[in-house]
Amino acid sequence: MKNILPDFGLHSTNVLIKNEFQDATLLIKDGVISDIILGQIGNSDFKIEELGKLVVMPGIIDSHVHVNEPGRTEWEGFQTITKAAIAGGITTLVDMPLNASPVTTSAQAFLHKLEATKGKLYCNCGFWGGIVPDNLDQLEELIKAGVLGIKAFLTHSGIDEFPNISASELKRAMPIIAKYNIPLLAHAEIDEMHPGILAFENNPTNYNSFLGSRPKEWEDKAVELLIELCGEFNCKVHIVHLSSANSIEKIEIAKADGLPLSVETCPQYLYFNAETIPDNNTLFKCAPPIREKENNDKLWDALKRGTIDFVVTDHSPATPELKRVESGNLKEAWGGIASIQFSLPVVWTAAKKRGFNVNEIAILMCANTAQFIGYGNTKGKIEKGFDADLVVWDPEQKFVVKKSDIHFRHKISPYIGEELYGVVKQTYVGGKKVYENMQDGKTVEFFISLPQGKLLIKNQ
Ligand SMILES: [Zn+2]
Repeated sequence: MKNILPDFGLHSTNVLIKNEFQDATLLIKDGVISDIILGQIGNSDFKIEELGKLVVMPGIIDSHVHVNEPGRTEWEGFQTITKAAIAGGITTLVDMPLNASPVTTSAQAFLHKLEATKGKLYCNCGFWGGIVPDNLDQLEELIKAGVLGIKAFLTHSGIDEFPNISASELKRAMPIIAKYNIPLLAHAEIDEMHPGILAFENNPTNYNSFLGSRPKEWEDKAVELLIELCGEFNCKVHIVHLSSANSIEKIEIAKADGLPLSVETCPQYLYFNAETIPDNNTLFKCAPPIREKENNDKLWDALKRGTIDFVVTDHSPATPELKRVESGNLKEAWGGIASIQFSLPVVWTAAKKRGFNVNEIAILMCANTAQFIGYGNTKGKIEKGFDADLVVWDPEQKFVVKKSDIHFRHKISPYIGEELYGVVKQTYVGGKKVYENMQDGKTVEFFISLPQGKLLIKNQ
């Protein structure tokens, strides 16, 4: 006879269900939330995890992550990154088509990448494919292999094997992408020569010179082009890591016109401000750059209004040597910030100050990202029948980010030393507890189950 009992239950007085905190018990069976009972249940024939008043929320979905494996595994790899993810309450991540080698621009390279994940995934993992000038004829095959969308660069990507594409190449690619109803993700900067570039060359350790070398206009010009093409081809367009607030108004108008346009920003643009970034410190270098407070306040307003759809990390690590940590040379340093493990507390700490509540964070980091990657019917919410991918955390508890806490490969991050609100206590992936750090005088356990992550392959 089939066992109809749940595998276990989870009880808290603060379970986030339908945008509200409820006193509830989640019943988990075969990796899904099989039922939700309000309040506590009495005697049961299965284990109940009692969580008191800790917040139980859907696991975070981070759709912008550079894993770098295979080929640049010395920068980061599936095992280290997915461990860091679950330690930060992230239950699903989506890997960018660069900076691994080969880059994910063909079905063959994609299969190679899938092979590299074997036995290493502590959280679920999906994949974006890439478009470059010479792979247009392979694009359909790559899409059919199961990538969740296609990424393009409008400026140099930093990786020579992943060149940027022109407007005319985009025009050839977009009808194909639109046919499969998946998003085109675009790095929106179009570079142009201007005096700030020379000024930066002469002063390469100065943060303001770096900021001046990548002006908002680069972003604004690219966003304008993308909006135009989005309308022309009725192709879903997603602007990754928006940093220039000058583009917000145009995005707002395009969305009001009903264009299939979505936008993300990242923790670094919401937490730091250019005014307080030290010189000679390359850990803050990313592209587009972290801008001034006045600009960043407008990003927050756009998040509040829903003009920016969600927040994801753009975790883009490199070795300390490539990051030029020693010399502080921003010109030569790799542009990318390592942060995946801390996105929930970083965003929450900054959001809390601005009057956001936990439910809004769950919408920005779970529900909207689940929808975006095409898993809005099974992930990103606590509902009966949804996957039991969960994070249990204490939004009121503070901690200081320490080097020794970091689980991603290189223990360098601009967040080291920051005091943050929000401690992740447990993470569940597919109904299995995969991370626990209760520290209530008793249990400190990390990475409880062996790799439990699943591959997210489109149409499978
Ligand atoms: Zn990126």
